[in-house]
Amino acid sequence: MGFLDGFGLTFGKLFDERVTTEYPEEKRPKALRTHGRHVLGRSEDGMEKCIGCELCAGVCPANCIYVRGLDNPPDDPVSPGERYGYVYEINYLRCIHCDLCVEACPTEAITETKMFEFSFTNRSDAIYTKDDLLVGDDGRPQHLPWEDWRPGEDEHTSAWMRATAPSGDASYAGKIAWSSELGYGTRAAEEGQTEDDSVAGAEE
Ligand code: SF4
Ligand code: SF4
Repeated sequence: MGFLDGFGLTFGKLFDERVTTEYPEEKRPKALRTHGRHVLGRSEDGMEKCIGCELCAGVCPANCIYVRGLDNPPDDPVSPGERYGYVYEINYLRCIHCDLCVEACPTEAITETKMFEFSFTNRSDAIYTKDDLLVGDDGRPQHLPWEDWRPGEDEHTSAWMRATAPSGDASYAGKIAWSSELGYGTRAAEEGQTEDDSVAGAEE
């Protein structure tokens, strides 16, 4: 009779509320801190935030970032630093979206959007160059032909920051500790943990 029990279980589940969706026609909202495709941001004055320091490449566990810095032209600097990112590449055949590059960047130049729906048919498309990664003159990411951006996902991508992580110091919750971004100004602080949460967590 075991197989009848199995059929009965299956039949009973036909009337349960579905937990799956008709992807990709129907998509669920993404979490606020989803790790997706990177962008290289610009400051409000349009300058590139990347100073070519290579810290992101050094920390990347998948060894998928390649950076070469170059001295800024004195008369027409590209970034506020001495140097700028002359070559910048991310190989998305390797990237595991761990976000360590974002954590390591001293200028908040490299950040991640929530757009992760992109696929490639050849290797060169998977290696994003600086031209692909740098936000445009309006502060928005480039839209490449194989990327599936949904409305609103290309906004506020370059100031996505880490300062209000739930595991962080509660006294910093809600305080802005990041720079402004081209087209959007300074992003508002997220609501994070409270002092009470911190005390409760410490006692567990
Ligand atoms: S998200 Fe992680 S794996 Fe991807 S480029 Fe950054 S450090 Fe490397
Ligand atoms: S993205 Fe940030 S960490 Fe990477 S080279 Fe540029 S400034 Fe340095």
